[in-house]
Amino acid sequence: VRSAAAPPPRQYKLAPQSELRVEVLPDAPLRVRLVAGTTEIFGTELPPEGLVPVPPRSKIAIFTWHGATVELDGVSESEYTSDETPMVIYVNAHAILDARRAGARVAAVQGGDLEASQGPRVIVVGPTDSGKSTLCKMLLSWAAKLGWKPTYVDLDIGQGSITIPGCISATPIEKPIDIVDGIPLEMPLVYFYGHPNPSINADAYKVLMKELAKTLEKQFSGNAESRAAGMVINTMGWVEGLGYELLLNAIDTFKANVVLVLGQEKLWKMLKDAKPNIDVVKLHKSEGVVLRNSKYRQRTRSFRIKEYFYGIANDLAPHSNIVNFSDVSVYRIGGGHQAPRSALPIGAEPVADPTRLVAVNISTDMVHTVLAVSYAKEPDEIISSNVAGFIHVTDVDIQRKKLTYIAPCPGDLPSRLLIASSLTWYEA
Ligand code: ATP
Repeated sequence: VRSAAAPPPRQYKLAPQSELRVEVLPDAPLRVRLVAGTTEIFGTELPPEGLVPVPPRSKIAIFTWHGATVELDGVSESEYTSDETPMVIYVNAHAILDARRAGARVAAVQGGDLEASQGPRVIVVGPTDSGKSTLCKMLLSWAAKLGWKPTYVDLDIGQGSITIPGCISATPIEKPIDIVDGIPLEMPLVYFYGHPNPSINADAYKVLMKELAKTLEKQFSGNAESRAAGMVINTMGWVEGLGYELLLNAIDTFKANVVLVLGQEKLWKMLKDAKPNIDVVKLHKSEGVVLRNSKYRQRTRSFRIKEYFYGIANDLAPHSNIVNFSDVSVYRIGGGHQAPRSALPIGAEPVADPTRLVAVNISTDMVHTVLAVSYAKEPDEIISSNVAGFIHVTDVDIQRKKLTYIAPCPGDLPSRLLIASSLTWYEA
């Protein structure tokens, strides 16, 4: 814990098309106030009045198109201004997408076919820390500001922004993303993979993408408005080998028709050659994107889990509950964590079906892990069902056959079918 004395409020005068980059400490509040002009944080305008609290640990840029004065109040980890940003390129990309949305809407009104009435399905790809999530936020917020309701699809199981790690999910964005509250969580569609790394069970990851895409396709077919608004798809920063293969897979699965490649020439070239029939566009990465090492990423994952139960501002109280072992059934997707061939008896083959459901005995190994609560009615529907939410196992009493957990809401679990994961979180 750093206990720097809070400096007095200070003002920054920002020239047109420049930004103030700020890193917020984990435990010191920082607030920002617009003094004059107009500014936005990743596509969402700062309100003209009042102090806006910036969430702890966030790394933001307060950008102005036409010039502004802003005031910071509180301690920060770093703050500096820059007039070198790729924002004009980004907003141009947005303008092209917007024109396509308008075209899709016209086609829908004129009774055009599904293809013509489909707005842009944009997939944002690039290595880690190239600013993918940030660009997604901007594209979504700019579109929402114009009245579109694009669907945000987050395939990043490591540093996703919709819900806890280990999930692939989607949610409609109906207004610019709130600076404090982030992505709206009223109705996300969440599929649970259960690990922060796709290589643990890449086939299951692919199957879950397919399920999510299928559900979205169904929703779009009955909703011309969201169909025209299209999708913005965020991906993982893993772009080599299997990571690259999964990107190609995602492009096909979600029928993406625009690929935005951030910060890597080679990846752009490869995707352009691999996908000659869709637009593969190279965009500059912002120098403002903050690099995060694997320890930092691991910590962020923990915080995301904690946030789910305790709220962003630590203002929610989770509910503790106890169930009998016999009240729930826990499954794992895939033979997962398979024994390597060398560890199997001679002649035995490793289990081949990565999407097979395996019933798991409740044991003390489950303490501190996260379990997802499936919407499935039957175990064999688990892989094709989205999840209602998550619980965190706090105790397993083998003798009394009881499992204690916390959940964000009180009451019984919405389902008795639970999915095990390798995601852990330790209450401090
Ligand atoms: P990953 O591959 O891990 O998902 P990413 O490519 O999606 O990373 P982002 O999450 O968009 O990268 O950016 C990394 C961090 O940098 C985020 O905390 C983001 O808020 C911050 N950031 C992005 N752009 C800027 C900027 N212009 N100024 C300051 N901070 C920024």
